[in-house]
Amino acid sequence: MNNPPVNIWIKGGRLIDPANGRDETADLLVTNGVIQAVGRVEAPADCRVIDADGLVVAPGLVDMHVHLREPGQEYKEDIASGSRAAAAGGVTSVAVMPNTQPVVDDLSVVGYILERARAAGLVRVFPIGAITRGLQGQRLTEMGLLQRAGCVAFSDDGRPLTDSGVMRCALEYARMFGALLIQHADDPTLSANGCMNEGVISSRLGLAGIPNAAESILVDRDLRLVALTGSRYHLAHVSTREAVRAMAQARSQHLPVSCEVTPHHFSLTDEAVLGYDTDAKMSPPLRGAMDRAALLEGLAQGIITVIATDHAPHDEESKRVEFCRAANGVVGLETLLPVSLELVRDGVLSLSHCIAAMSCNPARLLGLPLGTLGVGQAADVVLFDLEESWTVDARRLHSKSKNTCFHGRRVKGRVKQTLVAGKVVYRDGHD
Ligand SMILES: [Zn+2]
Repeated sequence: MNNPPVNIWIKGGRLIDPANGRDETADLLVTNGVIQAVGRVEAPADCRVIDADGLVVAPGLVDMHVHLREPGQEYKEDIASGSRAAAAGGVTSVAVMPNTQPVVDDLSVVGYILERARAAGLVRVFPIGAITRGLQGQRLTEMGLLQRAGCVAFSDDGRPLTDSGVMRCALEYARMFGALLIQHADDPTLSANGCMNEGVISSRLGLAGIPNAAESILVDRDLRLVALTGSRYHLAHVSTREAVRAMAQARSQHLPVSCEVTPHHFSLTDEAVLGYDTDAKMSPPLRGAMDRAALLEGLAQGIITVIATDHAPHDEESKRVEFCRAANGVVGLETLLPVSLELVRDGVLSLSHCIAAMSCNPARLLGLPLGTLGVGQAADVVLFDLEESWTVDARRLHSKSKNTCFHGRRVKGRVKQTLVAGKVVYRDGHD
């Protein structure tokens, strides 16, 4: 890989920088990987020019919910292949969940992930540490040490933290470090036998369902514990109207809570399961139309401030089995942007709000100085064509696994270039 040129002049794009309230035609001058000037810029003589005419120039996307499967399940994805998928999707930073093998509950695993990310050399990879050792839901990890080693948040994602006493301790402990706890809210005593949303469609298909209450019961409990402890809490992949309502109420009481939604939850319903397509199987499951409407409303009203993929690669063996036995999860890094842009076309979010939900908002929650195009910031940038239509093709994904629920979907919005610290890590048509 060649060293990047000293100066890059990104010329004449529609520059959108929600953190600084910008949406205007402007140039961006990058020097040594850092944003040097924004606006009408006089280009220095010795610069590389990127013509952004007709393109949107936005902060590189920050995805705070990603599974890269390394260490332990490299046949599904590894940090290098996941980094390529991210770069192709315009994602310049990923926060990766700790349910690897071994679990990220130990400094050595944090170090390993950071080292592998450096070796891949494409996007920024931030480990999320486990809340409990081995994700067993009992003994807390050394959050302070893990945070110092590079963990940007804590979660037992994939598994809910069900024990109320442990959750209270975790919240109190995390508070000492100002750490963010991320909950996968799912009461296993309600969801254990289910494999899709409980409703008309699960009855019709004869599949065991997971009621909305499996999510909302844990959310309600967690929010009471947040009120008790005053700790920061983030709800992963919200899927039900009841949980959106509970989050709205908590936010109106100024509790330090936030939540994210995935593109599959806001764009699909459990009707996607009608053909027993295992790529429509995930946890939490795709819900009903009223829940989807509540998610859109939650985005529009600023209750849900983050869009995250829950990128969960699975090999064919794990998915090509009967529905109830199939693994949960879908890949998402390469469809995050175009599917989210449907929110803009449908009038749910402005383009600026939509970009914010995938850049400065998650960056702020994770305490990262990223997701903006302010002068002095790292030049993590995505250039995309807002109008270009294309069809999602699972076989063409950069991810090792092809389990997308958007295969065949006609989408609009195509990533043209992705830069991390001024280095081009992806260029459309050059891979
Ligand atoms: Zn989860």
